Amino acid sequence: MTSSPLDRWITNDDEVTALLAREWDRQTSTLQLIASENFASPAVMAATGSILTNKYSEGYPGRRYYGGNQVVDEIEELARHRLRSLFGADHANVQPHSGANANVAVYQALLNPGDTVLAMRLDHGGHLTHGSPASITSKIWNFVSYGVTPRSDDPAVPGEVIDFDNVRDLAHAHRPKLIIAGATAYARRIDPAPFREIADEVGALLMFDSAHVAGLIAGGSHPNPVPYADVVTFTTHKTLRGPRGGAILSREEFAKKIDSAVFPGQQGGPLEHAIAAKAVAFKEASLPSFSKYTDQIVANSRAFGAALTSEGFRMVSGGTENHMVLLDLREFDAELTGKEAQEVLDRAGITTNRNQIPDDPRSPFITSGLRVGTAAETTAGLGEQEFATVAALMARALRHRADDGAIDQVHRDVATLCRDFNPYANFLI
Ligand SMILES: *Cc1c(COP(=O)(O)O)cnc(C)c1O
Repeated sequence: MTSSPLDRWITNDDEVTALLAREWDRQTSTLQLIASENFASPAVMAATGSILTNKYSEGYPGRRYYGGNQVVDEIEELARHRLRSLFGADHANVQPHSGANANVAVYQALLNPGDTVLAMRLDHGGHLTHGSPASITSKIWNFVSYGVTPRSDDPAVPGEVIDFDNVRDLAHAHRPKLIIAGATAYARRIDPAPFREIADEVGALLMFDSAHVAGLIAGGSHPNPVPYADVVTFTTHKTLRGPRGGAILSREEFAKKIDSAVFPGQQGGPLEHAIAAKAVAFKEASLPSFSKYTDQIVANSRAFGAALTSEGFRMVSGGTENHMVLLDLREFDAELTGKEAQEVLDRAGITTNRNQIPDDPRSPFITSGLRVGTAAETTAGLGEQEFATVAALMARALRHRADDGAIDQVHRDVATLCRDFNPYANFLI
């Protein structure tokens, strides 16, 4: 086995150690193309695995309910300070355990039960916490959903992009208290300015859910929503490449309400080991090398999308401007579902996720789409040329999906590629 951060995870629990070894092997010998995943740095993982997991610190720096928080206060203050400077925000809350918790805390802070929220349709790219019937959010608040424009086959007029006429019409008709910008399966840049304009027309607050693109914003590859939005939520583990977790930025006037909604509103004691790891990640994201990384993510997905297109796949919205490509598989093969594609690619050592595409005739469990992302493998060092190779490997596996020998050959080719691009062999930050 490669010398790895794994050396630090050898425990006296043989079963868990063996499972960690298997997962190390899976992550480093197969391709990780889940758009919401990344490889956190050894420094981030060291902080996550630190003694801070032992400490209870309900409350906020300087206002804790338990003793012994002198050092923890400095850690959380450092994380908040680094985060405010990274995005130029008035206020930062680094305690949310996840992106979902961050979103629900914002709703709790800014809304009363029953208030109307305008957010993106789930089947057009929105997130579960944007009012899915399966989410508690839809039971407490009244969600109205905007969508994307119809598909266009004219390259000069891209279709399947956020329909701002629809956003404006719904905003005027429903007078939401909060408008949410941000998506989970949308490959285009999301411009915060038109959302602000519409929010101002109807007197709504604006929340930008930048869960996916927080890293691209921090690196300067995407526009910063902080000057436009009242609140910005995000996850720290997607393009931002930190530990698994969430965070909230806001204008000063909402600081108190947001802090109280996170604790004691939603959560108990904060995960200070995760907060220390967030501080490490925020510092990493402020370095010039991180901007180079996020520009490379975007360049890689453009190259990946072009290569997939030449293999016969159709990109939803006709292109990509971020870290992901959303594929409509029907063009490649009318019989191929997202579920089957994901399963075939898993067997070939390529990890992806099926995804609904706008107006998908298939169910969310089956789907006609596949979502792939470049953030993780860009960390591992893949460039545009390698992503073109990955596109060819994907097409080969899917074309020959009935042939086990062909799938095995793709798996071997994937393993060969991964040997040259182990994210932890030479971690660059
Ligand atoms: C991933 C995501 C979330 C939720 O993050 P979790 O950490 O999985 O809870 C929220 N909003 C959007 C847009 C996301 O993509």
